[in-house]
Amino acid sequence: MKSFENADNKEIEKFDNVSDIWWDLNGEMGTLHVINPLRTQFIMEKLPPNPKILDVGCGGGILSEALAKAGARVTGLDLSEASIQAAKKHAQSQNLQIDYRYESAQDVADKEAGTFDAIACMEMLEHVPEPGRVIAACAKALKPGGQAFFSTINRTPKAFLFAIVGGEYILRLLPRGTHTYSKLIRPVELKAWNKEAGLQFARLASLMYNPFTRTFKVAHDKEDVNYMAHFTK
Ligand code: SAH
Repeated sequence: MKSFENADNKEIEKFDNVSDIWWDLNGEMGTLHVINPLRTQFIMEKLPPNPKILDVGCGGGILSEALAKAGARVTGLDLSEASIQAAKKHAQSQNLQIDYRYESAQDVADKEAGTFDAIACMEMLEHVPEPGRVIAACAKALKPGGQAFFSTINRTPKAFLFAIVGGEYILRLLPRGTHTYSKLIRPVELKAWNKEAGLQFARLASLMYNPFTRTFKVAHDKEDVNYMAHFTK
């Protein structure tokens, strides 16, 4: 494993260890597949046709592939090398052209500043030592007028109960140990980091889980447990 700035090797290792189950729909990453159409729509509905998108912390490419299928030109980056390999292999099997890189957000932003129409950074910031620096790198990579989409988990007692206790231990929607409570992010914090990075808040929505139907739906303007937020440069 290479060492990168602003990355937690213990976190990266967790994702290296699950790199062969990203595409197992019934496996522990299955929830990402269930929410994928909803988050893909949240992103694509605000973008021009064939946007150039950078997927930051793309993992095995679950979101990257959906964005590519929806017409986006996608670059995906991740610091879990095993996950990037899995993403490359899967995209090949689907005949999708996605530019996957084992590079940090900062490296891509430095090399390709101001070139992306949009950034997607989903379920990733809560695994990083300094999320504000990732957001600043995302802002740098965006074109003026570009759109940034972040999703994460709120740091509230309800989120502790539902995302960690319920999600990881009772319903097993996620691998145990995926999330650390203190690293979860409140919407006001996400908004403040974006503001510091020069991005303006546009809208926010939460993914509401129904354990009986095992489905999610989007609740606009609601700050709940698992939320997505949209900012513009
Ligand atoms: N965005 C994907 C995967 C989310 S899991 C999806 O929603 O489907 C979180 C991902 O962030 C993992 O693949 C992990 O390796 C990656 N990650 C963690 N820290 C990172 C960092 N500092 N830079 C880039 N990727 C990171």
